[in-house]
Amino acid sequence: MYKTYFVYLLTLLFTLQFTSATAQGGELSPEKIRAALDEAYTKYKDVKEGKNADYIKELANVDSKIFGIALVTADGEVYTKGDIESMVSIQSVSKAFVAAQVIDEMGHQAMMDSIGVDATGMVFNSIVAVEHHRGKEINPLVNPGAIAATSLVSGADSAAIWKSILNKHSEFAGRELSLNMPVYISEAGDNLRNQAIAHLLLAYGRMYFDPVEATDIYTKQCAINVSAKDLAVMGATLANGGVNPVTKKEVVSAETVMYTLPIMATAGLYDDSGIWYYNSGLPAKSGVGGGIVAVCPGKFGIGVVSPPLDAAGNSVKAQLVIKYVVEKLGVNPFMIQPK
Ligand code: GLN
Repeated sequence: MYKTYFVYLLTLLFTLQFTSATAQGGELSPEKIRAALDEAYTKYKDVKEGKNADYIKELANVDSKIFGIALVTADGEVYTKGDIESMVSIQSVSKAFVAAQVIDEMGHQAMMDSIGVDATGMVFNSIVAVEHHRGKEINPLVNPGAIAATSLVSGADSAAIWKSILNKHSEFAGRELSLNMPVYISEAGDNLRNQAIAHLLLAYGRMYFDPVEATDIYTKQCAINVSAKDLAVMGATLANGGVNPVTKKEVVSAETVMYTLPIMATAGLYDDSGIWYYNSGLPAKSGVGGGIVAVCPGKFGIGVVSPPLDAAGNSVKAQLVIKYVVEKLGVNPFMIQPK
């Protein structure tokens, strides 16, 4: 009798421990995660380096003190610190999610054949990069390849393509996202360089929709408003093999994620992508609105918003926070314990 109880108790204890460990994403306990976010926030909140982007006039007016951190685990636990109410325009972070959408719709080979996935190593709006490769190898995470990716999203007309992109972003974020109209209008009136890129791609046969309209949809997609928490849920959806861990909806396939994360690893932070990957080991994507999302495969997505940028166009504080959290939680995938 006692023996049966003992075995029962042991099984119960084992099950409880096992389920709580998996629910927390392996070795990551809620306390550990909370402490990492708190410490990162305190450590970096007074950093003054960096400057808001101002080549898009409206971005210069965004409150540079916004500072929000969110981490969402692959099983949907949400942790936040700081300002997660304020929203910034997603800007280039959208490129990762449109790339995923195109891979999901057309397959990974089409991404290779129609756009190319090698990092250009040049600034994000480089025309030289397009010219150098004669329209080939333009990469979906910098402007030329991103505008080409937008031009590949299926839809009968530009309204349908825009709707599809906004819907997909909303599914990634688990809520209905919307357009930051002042940012869109500000950039749309001033995006001659991106239009030039789109036309140059057309000349090389690498633009798959009307170049003016594709650039306009791309400008809209960059003006989608997001909070740090939105970015974290979007990242967590990638971390969880394409299923949004909060809504439980499959947004893209696991295979799509498998092909999207390597592009983020090699080209997510523009011409500083190598430095980022060297220091963090995580695929990530930044935007000139001040957001960065990073993905710890199978574990979590982390989103940080802080508008001041470094010279490459990446949020200074967001990089510091994510690197700190990765180190503190010991989740760099390349930290291997020898057998
Ligand atoms: N909309 C911006 C542009 O095209 C996006 C750039 C970025 O975030 N790096 O210039």
